[in-house]
Amino acid sequence: MPELPEVESVLRALRDSTPPLPGRLIRDANILSNVVVAGDYSDVFNDVVAGMIFSTISRHGKYLIFRLIKLCSNPRELFLVVHLRMTGRLFLVPQEQAVVKHTRLALTLDDGLALRFDDPRKFGRVWLVDDPAKVISGLGPDALTVNQEIFRSKISVYNRQIKPLLLDQSFIAGIGNIYADESLYRAGIHPLTSSSSLSELQIERLHSAICEVLSEAVDDNGANIDGVFSEGDFVVSVYGRQDKPCPKCGSPIVKIRVGQRGTHFCPVCQPFT
Ligand SMILES: [Zn+2]
Repeated sequence: MPELPEVESVLRALRDSTPPLPGRLIRDANILSNVVVAGDYSDVFNDVVAGMIFSTISRHGKYLIFRLIKLCSNPRELFLVVHLRMTGRLFLVPQEQAVVKHTRLALTLDDGLALRFDDPRKFGRVWLVDDPAKVISGLGPDALTVNQEIFRSKISVYNRQIKPLLLDQSFIAGIGNIYADESLYRAGIHPLTSSSSLSELQIERLHSAICEVLSEAVDDNGANIDGVFSEGDFVVSVYGRQDKPCPKCGSPIVKIRVGQRGTHFCPVCQPFT
């Protein structure tokens, strides 16, 4: 499942392509699966987006936010908010490239381009809204923008096992199963540790570990897990490596279930205290 680094990598690919997505005019929209489109205008999606121009692209946690503008006689501003969920991907392709079996939304753009939303599992969503807050208001701050002081004050409110807390998008947004396991490993914290029992030093270490792991993964275009983000180069230390040796101490990595999620850790480097 794409997490913050993979979603950021999708954003950068669209923003930095030649020509880039920002500035492209939408000529037409073709909804190939109604379930993926939501928001204020799902019934009149094509009528509303046709003639609008892609402006800025931003990200909050695992959500992509595309600002659309219409200039000239009838100025307006709308937002496409996209969550890739399990298998969603966005591609900027030449118009003549055929839609594939799993294409759920196809936007015809100017300059001979098209934007495609492919999603085999159909859990991904595309909301068209006046205000992105309608979709993302329940999220905590983006995990890459949280400084140590905010992290400490937010964590002090909770008394929960640390792994499920890191996955809670209302706590901080962007961390999923892969980067929660990797961050706890790097911080040397057992995933079942109660958040209220973390020492000041552990909180500091965890905050640094999250920043480092996410930043490194962004630089590496995310992680290639199960072939989903095949361009990702981030090398995991514990996630999905049960029974393989810990990169630091050589002990076998253990897999347990925490809050119904597979959780990987090194019992030596991450002792339960
Ligand atoms: Zn170890």
